[in-house]
Amino acid sequence: MTSPLTDLRDRTLDSLRVSVTDRCNLRCHYCMPEEEYVWLPRQSILRHEETGRLVKVFASLGVSKVRITGGEPLLRRDLPRLVELIKASRGIVDLAMTTNGLVLESQAAALKAAGLDRVTISLDTLRPERFREFARRGRLDDVFAGIDAAHHAGLRGTKLNTVVIRGFNDDEIVEILEFGRVRGLEVRFIEYMDVGGATQWSPDDVVPRSEMLEVIRRHYGGADAAASRDDHGAPAERFQLPDGTEFGIIASTTAPFCGTCGRSRLTADGVWYLCLYADRGTDLKELVRAGATDEEIAAAIAAAWRSRDDRGAEERLAQPGRGPLFRVEGLRQDPHREMHTRGG
Ligand code: SAM
Ligand code: SF4
Ligand code: SF4
Repeated sequence: MTSPLTDLRDRTLDSLRVSVTDRCNLRCHYCMPEEEYVWLPRQSILRHEETGRLVKVFASLGVSKVRITGGEPLLRRDLPRLVELIKASRGIVDLAMTTNGLVLESQAAALKAAGLDRVTISLDTLRPERFREFARRGRLDDVFAGIDAAHHAGLRGTKLNTVVIRGFNDDEIVEILEFGRVRGLEVRFIEYMDVGGATQWSPDDVVPRSEMLEVIRRHYGGADAAASRDDHGAPAERFQLPDGTEFGIIASTTAPFCGTCGRSRLTADGVWYLCLYADRGTDLKELVRAGATDEEIAAAIAAAWRSRDDRGAEERLAQPGRGPLFRVEGLRQDPHREMHTRGG
């Protein structure tokens, strides 16, 4: 076996987030708060065969976990075809997807049949009016239907992602945890991040892990560190309620985990980013469309990873007077900076 590909901080390239579209059927306040967006040109979007080929090359370099994301990945046509292509890559042991769940009901069975291992569904509120105000489109009932459909389709290990924001949904922490608990779904609470499209971000709106834990412990009479680790290497710190229910907290803002991060991101138009906060990426589409061989693409990926020194969230944490990462004008100059382009 060849030795693992490591960067300058000895972090191994092991997981890849693949964004399949920058389009979305919601406009969540923490991700897409603007009225108008600059979209990636359609002809630049990778065909599934092109994405599948790139994933195969990544797998040959040690990537074993892939997460399909977006924008809203379920807006992309023929997604089961991409799932099949990725699953056919030797070395991919875990293929997951992050979705807002809105149109999952009609697609869950086909995705499962194609080989998708599991889904993570974003669920920030259980209150329909709040959802409407926050996401500006869609119906919460459709998300609930999507959650049920994942189960009926036989998808196991479904997780719920909840970004906790002060003054928006910090009064629902226990309700959402209960929602997951009775359905046997692990909830992961995420700290609000100052990434990409979060132009309204303020440190005052971040509910830190310590505060989330306090609320949960007060309600349930305790929550200890869970003995089991996340079997998919996710950055969530895991806890256990007195009845054994496990949940996670991802403290990306107050306690970043850059030191062990082997994650990188491929945008729908084939630009590869070594960090969520990176300003520049490697244009792999250009290589693919110029007729590069798999070996040439692998060499470009390996060279970029070997010189990787990124620790974006840690650097942001050290910055005094921190505000949003970008203003709207900066995002319009380069839509690749958006979280909905880069994939969360
Ligand atoms: N549209 C899909 C969804 O919402 O699940 C997938 C893409 S979305 C960009 C991926 C994840 O990023 C979601 O779970 C979302 O909650 C999270 N996210 C987006 N903006 C965020 C922010 N400012 N802070 C923390 N998480 C964020
Ligand atoms: Fe919301 Fe996901 Fe769409 Fe962003 S990409 S607006 S988080 S549903
Ligand atoms: Fe990894 Fe960058 Fe996120 Fe740090 S900020 S955990 S290096 S993607």
